[in-house]
Amino acid sequence: MATQRTVLITGATAGIGEAIARLLAGHPFRLILCGRRADRLKQLADELSARTEVHTLRFDITRRQEVAAALDSLPPEWKRIDVLVNNAGGAHGLDPIQSGNVDDWEAMIDANVKGLLYVSRGILPGMADRKSGHVINIGSIAGREVYAGGNVYCASKFAVDALSRGMRIDLNSAGVKVTQISPGLVETEFSLVRFKGDTSRAATPYQGITPLVGKDIADLVLFVLTRPDHVVVADLVVFPTAQASATVVNRANR
Ligand code: NAP
Repeated sequence: MATQRTVLITGATAGIGEAIARLLAGHPFRLILCGRRADRLKQLADELSARTEVHTLRFDITRRQEVAAALDSLPPEWKRIDVLVNNAGGAHGLDPIQSGNVDDWEAMIDANVKGLLYVSRGILPGMADRKSGHVINIGSIAGREVYAGGNVYCASKFAVDALSRGMRIDLNSAGVKVTQISPGLVETEFSLVRFKGDTSRAATPYQGITPLVGKDIADLVLFVLTRPDHVVVADLVVFPTAQASATVVNRANR
């Protein structure tokens, strides 16, 4: 039987992160679930505890001291983190750059870039010291291609791409694996957040197509985590079949 690994998942309260938690709970992993919404963390932990050991950490990844305090609060038996899934984040707004909302810009840069860095800075030293570990960064097709109104979200995900490559180089001598998974359209709460709760606008990206769902990304996470020691899947781009690029989406063939 495979050794049980400890996985910390940011953004486990919804969408892709929640799906990753649900899938990994049925395999040899124990889970540290993170997010801001305490009720959802508790509900998911209660449910998954029947299948594996679960610990929860409630913090806002944009707050540096909060991140450090949360990681420091881990009991000794949870301090060794074998796998870090940097998933928390999202998009805020779709405005042209010239009329962009500066609060939205800050929220995206703070979560998608700085938050990922704060969490990574707390966890990577342990992996480097132990000369083992695996980091999975959830990037986006928005980190490869820019689209109208995507400006700052795209910039933040281009940064995740650069950080994933940089991590892979800097952690190479320690044998720590780094994987980036860059999805196209996944139906989660992503668009609801982007369009500030406007449900009809939030539905438009997925209209006329069968989008990816969180489980599709979770399947890839499980795949990369179960490769042999000598194999690292460095970079994956995944689309729904109806999508060919950030902007080419076939809405006619559903
Ligand atoms: P989602 O359903 O909105 O989930 C986002 C998760 O991130 C939630 O669990 C949320 O938890 C957490 N989060 C957001 N801001 C946070 C903060 N400041 N501090 C702590 N946690 C925070 O969206 P999703 O689609 O699953 O997105 C997950 C990742 O996939 C994001 O990085 C996103 O950019 C990326 N992605 C999504 C798509 C897509 O089409 N959906 C495509 C490509 C990439 P709380 O609100 O409880 O804190």
